Amino acid sequence: MAAIGFIGVGNMGGPMAVNLINAGHRVQVFDLSDDLVAKVVAKGGFPANSPQAAVDGVDIVISMLPSGEVVEALYIHQGHLLEAIPDGALVIDCSTIAPHNARNLAHAAEKRGLAVIDAPVSGGVAGAAAGTLTFIVGGSDANFERAKPVLLNMGKNVFHAGQNGAGQIAKICNNMLLAVQMIGTAEALQLGVDNGLDASVLSDIMLKSSGRNWALELYNPWPGVMENAPASRNYTGGFQVDLMNKDLGLAMEAAIKSKSATPMGGLAKSLYAAHARDDHGKLDFSSIQKFFSLSKKWS
Ligand code: NAD
Repeated sequence: MAAIGFIGVGNMGGPMAVNLINAGHRVQVFDLSDDLVAKVVAKGGFPANSPQAAVDGVDIVISMLPSGEVVEALYIHQGHLLEAIPDGALVIDCSTIAPHNARNLAHAAEKRGLAVIDAPVSGGVAGAAAGTLTFIVGGSDANFERAKPVLLNMGKNVFHAGQNGAGQIAKICNNMLLAVQMIGTAEALQLGVDNGLDASVLSDIMLKSSGRNWALELYNPWPGVMENAPASRNYTGGFQVDLMNKDLGLAMEAAIKSKSATPMGGLAKSLYAAHARDDHGKLDFSSIQKFFSLSKKWS
């Protein structure tokens, strides 16, 4: 069993840290919020009063933070956390951040003799709690193999996308496609309902036809069609519009750098930005359905 320093125990990091504790690891926890640290301590974690204290004597450091700016500030710039991590330790950053932030972290960590991977996740808060996350790893073969057993304590699938930064690229490609699928699904459902169809009947038909996709299958955006989907609880408790906007912003940034054409992703970014400005930023991303029902009212 390993000694693990865990930094950032919010919606995702909190349950991930608890799964590591349940797997028998010693987990030293730091977050800017003492209340969030206390929640993990109640499940068997050890509180740390600074990031430096969290990494004291550990074999592995895991972070789950809001943005690339925060990650770089903590490890490299203002926080200088890399200096405090024991020699030879493995750093696993699970935050969703820009590929260049992940590569900057990798370069700085390697200079210090630390192993580092980016390991953003898919699966949301429910997947974090259930220990069924998908990890998408960027890093060397050796560091991937070293991280795999501990990632499997928090998830069911672990993929190796390529070198450092590749995990982030794969993650933002996936989320751009997810946004496009969700918008297309919401648009099709609204079109059907506006023309007299029942949303459940139309969903069943499309599920067995060529329009079938992940949003229809597991995350229907029309309220009441799928009992356990966020749409059936007023779009609460899922993946926030604000986070989807962040991921689409990262996808657009990557597309500019690589001169890739992403017309559908660009449109998805604009629609989700408009939706967030309409006070929906904290709702689940399937609430984009409201955008189409509203546009009917305007016509
Ligand atoms: P969150 O805001 O709930 O948690 C982030 C935590 O980081 C907060 O508790 C905050 O206090 C802490 N934090 C911020 N700066 C810190 C610092 N300098 N030192 C220590 N702690 C600090 O966010 P979340 O939903 O847990 O998301 C975390 C990451 O996971 C993000 O990069 C997000 O894009 C990604 N993600 C989220 C989901 C989801 O469904 N929520 C799904 C996949 C990926």
